[in-house]
Amino acid sequence: VTVQSYDPRSGATVAEIEETDPQEFTSILAQAEAATPVLAATSPTERRRWLYAIAEGLERNRDELVALADRETALGAERLQGEIDRTTKSQLRFYGDVAEEGSYLGVSIEEPTEGKPSLVRVNRPVGPVAVFGASNFPFAFSVLGSDTASAIAAGCPVVAKAHPAHVGVSQLQHAIAAEALAEAGAPTGTFAMVNGFQNGIDLVKAQAIQAVAFTGSQTGGLALWRIANERPIPIPVYAEMGTVNPVVVTREGAASMDEVAAGFVGSFTLGSGQFCTKPGLLLAPAGCGAPAAICAALQAMAPEPVMLTKAISAGVVAGVFEFVGSGAAVLAQTTPGDDGFAAPAIIYVAEIGALTQGSRLLEECFGAVAVVCEYRDDEELAVALAALQPSLAASIITGGPTDSQAAGVVDVLSSRVGRLVIDGWPTGVTCSWAQHHGGPWPSTTIPQATSVGAHALDRFIRPMTFQNTPDSWLPPAGQAANPWGIPRRVNGDLRTASRSE
Ligand code: NAP
Repeated sequence: VTVQSYDPRSGATVAEIEETDPQEFTSILAQAEAATPVLAATSPTERRRWLYAIAEGLERNRDELVALADRETALGAERLQGEIDRTTKSQLRFYGDVAEEGSYLGVSIEEPTEGKPSLVRVNRPVGPVAVFGASNFPFAFSVLGSDTASAIAAGCPVVAKAHPAHVGVSQLQHAIAAEALAEAGAPTGTFAMVNGFQNGIDLVKAQAIQAVAFTGSQTGGLALWRIANERPIPIPVYAEMGTVNPVVVTREGAASMDEVAAGFVGSFTLGSGQFCTKPGLLLAPAGCGAPAAICAALQAMAPEPVMLTKAISAGVVAGVFEFVGSGAAVLAQTTPGDDGFAAPAIIYVAEIGALTQGSRLLEECFGAVAVVCEYRDDEELAVALAALQPSLAASIITGGPTDSQAAGVVDVLSSRVGRLVIDGWPTGVTCSWAQHHGGPWPSTTIPQATSVGAHALDRFIRPMTFQNTPDSWLPPAGQAANPWGIPRRVNGDLRTASRSE
């Protein structure tokens, strides 16, 4: 049995890879389990070296990777080059640096006093992590993407399930990582990959797996979340899914409607609308000409979306029936080409009253598709915002810091999203210390967690306290000499990193 990928521009087969057979599957899990204590005992500095080695391997093979990924995704060489930069610099290397810095270990030491024991609290890696990447990021959220890099940085072996839409470039990345890790001295079992739909399910059920990191659709994420919760011993599923990511234009923000319309169309059609942060709904004040301006901007830009898979392309077309059936009308659309997985870019318009809880209009339609609604007053806007599903991100287009309407909208939206953007668009997520890419259910299954940024490591650790434990029996992070040179809280005082503490 094989897994095939296709060229979205023509529909032709690009790669055909065999599914992982049961014997190999069992051996991969056994190796991941065997590597678990080795990784846990390895210093963050050493693991950082492994992640840097993978990054260098990807960069050495950059042109081959980009060419193959472009054939499998049609995302274009420029975008894919940028994605490799993000993967190597802002993810693999950055998470290595975060691990070495050491604050993710959350060490807190209390020396014994009369009547009180010594306590050492330290975060420990959870063990093997299953990683599911999404179709729309063949590097940054694929087999060596953010989840894999942050899990290894936190000291956990990874078994990734390759996405069929880019199975060829997944295979190539796996080979590059295997060579880089072996040369860097990482133990066998640090990273492996499986192919095949059922193998993904079996991975979530496997006893060895201690956590799942998923990036993809709500349907897929919630299916795997259910499977993990039906295990005899359930495990956390960190599912980052797709949401509507609303944009609110305030009355003052609507003063430059043509500029707002151009920004909105640019954002919702970027990458053929195949971003989890795509703004799928715009709420503008009535009478500011938003529908006409957005229509004109779409006609001027004339995007030509090509979707990653046949199913995603079909989803855009099926969305027309679903959205119209939910009270929207097509305001404007482009005519797709005849070849491959081309699809139209579509703007719908709907009465704001159609935005009721459970409406299809409040769910993601993956692709260059968005809905525009007009609100007559603050009350109408407030009712619509209250009906929204929580989202990964939202934007508010304002008239500037003195905008009298904006603070109220900030207040409402901040309780419903993981990231709020002022006077900008939700597409584009920086991977850095202060980033949060998550959000309340159903944007993610665990709203406290982020899949992007330094805190991505926190998903793969578990705190524990050692009481009255002799120094040499403690994990290095908690030992008196601070051999890993990490910041720690000692008797309540935060002490910055010092190897000679
Ligand atoms: P997808 O269809 O959910 O697939 C993701 C992975 O999960 C694939 O490997 C898929 O395997 C597997 N999968 C899906 N359903 C499954 C099930 N019922 N049982 C077992 N495995 C299952 O998502 P996609 O089309 O690749 O990605 C697009 C979606 O991802 C969009 O909704 C987008 O918004 C979202 N996304 C979210 C983020 C974020 O950070 N939140 C980032 C990027 C994309 P098979 O293909 O073999 O079925």
